[in-house]
Amino acid sequence: MADDTHIEEHLSTPIAGHYDVIVVGGGASGTVAAMAAARLGARTLVIERGGCFGGAATANLVAQWVAFFHDETRVVGGIPFELAERVQAAGGSDGFHRYVMGEAAGTPFGLRVLPFNPETLKVVLDDAVKQSGAEVLFHVGFSRALTNDGRITGVIVETVGGRKAYTAGTVIDASGDAAVCASAGVECHGEAVDARAERQPCTLSFRLSNVDVARFKAVPSAERRRLVLGGLERGELFWQSLSFVSTPAGTDAICLMSRITGIDALSERDASRAEQEGRRQIASIVPFLVREIPGFENAVLADIAERVGVRETRRIQGRYTLTEEDIMTERSFEDSVALGAGPMDRHEPDGTGITLYAPPSPFEIPLGALVPAGIEGLLVCGRTLSSTREAMAGARHMATSMAMGEAVGTLAAMATTTNRLPSAVKVAEVQSRLSQGKALFRRSQVETAIAA
Ligand SMILES: Cc1cc2nc3c(=O)[nH]c(=O)nc-3n(C[C@H](O)[C@H](O)[C@H](O)COP(=O)(O)OP(=O)(O)OC[C@H]3O[C@@H](n4cnc5c(N)ncnc54)[C@H](O)[C@@H]3O)c2cc1C
Repeated sequence: MADDTHIEEHLSTPIAGHYDVIVVGGGASGTVAAMAAARLGARTLVIERGGCFGGAATANLVAQWVAFFHDETRVVGGIPFELAERVQAAGGSDGFHRYVMGEAAGTPFGLRVLPFNPETLKVVLDDAVKQSGAEVLFHVGFSRALTNDGRITGVIVETVGGRKAYTAGTVIDASGDAAVCASAGVECHGEAVDARAERQPCTLSFRLSNVDVARFKAVPSAERRRLVLGGLERGELFWQSLSFVSTPAGTDAICLMSRITGIDALSERDASRAEQEGRRQIASIVPFLVREIPGFENAVLADIAERVGVRETRRIQGRYTLTEEDIMTERSFEDSVALGAGPMDRHEPDGTGITLYAPPSPFEIPLGALVPAGIEGLLVCGRTLSSTREAMAGARHMATSMAMGEAVGTLAAMATTTNRLPSAVKVAEVQSRLSQGKALFRRSQVETAIAA
């Protein structure tokens, strides 16, 4: 019944299509999930609220893939590694580099990353998804899960042309916010209002052109730290970071330097405040860089990310919950389908620092952490996997998210193209298919490289 707090709606929604697999979210994990499903012959649709694939990598200008490597050992293969090669072949990256995270915070941590030009990545992903046979609907927002008798049957979406329904045998929630799972009634963690104060901060990234990156790189790390601490003291900077990714030509710096705290990105009011606060911070950071930092003297603000980058919101309750202890004690799982590398990176919710530490070895991610409890036909990938907050901090990196995407896309296709529920597909079948595609999912697969 309608009252002054609620409006009751009676809707008749047209069914716009039927698919084997629907992927909600065309970000790091969802793009790869869709490619994996479509390559195995599943009729696949990706629904993405933005205008391009890539998610954080493109829309948030987070322009480097982390976690392909644990130290010097590569732990992610398959489709994600193919995409890494394709972006290099397209001239969008000059390959994997050693990068020092947390240097300006006085907690330097070296890791091997793949920096790229996000604009090139957009084009590479368009081609790769098209060639896989998956269809995409951009500028379409997921609205509601359709369920029947404990099983997901499709999704309601909002399009420019209004509300529509799409049905599917399997739905993959790659939204980063567990939007489908929450709507389907799956228990989710991290939603409580008091969890907001604990959330890792958001960052609005920006791109500067006309930077002399080589000149900046020659600045000794102690001097960089001194400059950053000065900026912080004067209120011109917002955390201990001079974090940026340079494009292959060495002329642009894509900066991750804003730090927006106390945001619940599941609240439209907080999310709006985050965008405006991010731009306010950027308006302070840019003059600081131009005035103080060697190599930035002639820098010009070329772009601000389309949307603020959100590090965490919901985590689902899955059939298994990955913990920090699993990662740090090198636990093996029979149903492992992806390998993570870390680092475990926790941005302090208050303060201006970041804590970084390495898992002792590549860690296994079990399929059970990607299967929501209590519902059939629904799978997840990416940063909303079933995990503790600490484990999520180590598993959320984009190469790991993409590896999870390949695993659930493979499972979804194997289920729907043989008229089975995902739970009826044996994990050994999925692992065998992943191996055929050169995906890596067991520590033992990379141990030889570690020992060498
Ligand atoms: C500021 C910041 C810095 C980071 N730095 C790094 C780094 O240097 N390297 C690294 O590897 N990782 C980094 N990460 C982590 C990494 O980017 C994410 O954890 C990773 O992208 C998660 O992948 P995902 O597929 O779960 O989500 P995303 O890549 O965020 O993709 C989710 C997609 O779902 C779409 N979507 C969401 N809701 C809806 C809806 N209702 N309808 C339709 N579409 C929807 C979104 O538009 C988006 O495209 C960083 C993250 C942030 C925020």
